[in-house]
Amino acid sequence: MDISAASKAPLIGVFGGTFDPIHCGHLAIAQELMHELPLARILFVPAARPPHRVAPVAPAAHRLEMVRLALHGHPHFAVDECEYERLGPSYTVDTLLALRRRHRRPLALILGMDAFLGLPGWHRWRQLIGLAHLVIVRRPGFDAPLPSWVRPRLVTGGKLVDADHGLAVLVTTLDRPESATVLRQALRHGPAPAGWLPAGVPEYIERHKLYRGDD
Ligand code: ATP
Repeated sequence: MDISAASKAPLIGVFGGTFDPIHCGHLAIAQELMHELPLARILFVPAARPPHRVAPVAPAAHRLEMVRLALHGHPHFAVDECEYERLGPSYTVDTLLALRRRHRRPLALILGMDAFLGLPGWHRWRQLIGLAHLVIVRRPGFDAPLPSWVRPRLVTGGKLVDADHGLAVLVTTLDRPESATVLRQALRHGPAPAGWLPAGVPEYIERHKLYRGDD
């Protein structure tokens, strides 16, 4: 999508994650979605204090800095620090409420299939679909059938502009192997798998001696 098309597109993509660390899979997904969906831009929202999982390994400030480095030179991507500005657990429902207030545009919440399948464990998860569309991205190893509550909401990407929230898109054009868990395991003993870390991030990890201890 060129810049003029993107600036007319109505939706803002919201890509939350622990980003512990951000990897090339995250970037490839965001790039593909900019092509496939009517997105003006994508906000990467690192979770300061993710509530639904074990505590991140790298401190929040380092995870944020790595996202900043990775997004350098991508004009349609930006970091949003709203989860660092709030106190308490980083609940996605609060993030969507804050982003809707700030941007006054429809939102598309981007979730890998693993995250989507875990949604019923999230705080006030049923409200999410009242605040945003869902963009569900296929992920190797997570091939479960979609739950019945989401199936009637499924549309093709272009249709997302027909509503303010409540629709869902399943993106099957990607099959990215990267995983932050696998990356952290590799980094404990040596380098990251080739091509998995965005430019600037390997040097940052090295400089700050991240991921060398126990995971
Ligand atoms: P971890 O292994 O620590 O859980 P991760 O690789 O899943 O990390 P996160 O920062 O937790 O990375 O992911 C942020 C979002 O990106 C989640 O919605 C996740 O499902 C999605 N995602 C990450 N990697 C992939 C991938 N390879 N394919 C599809 N979705 C992905």
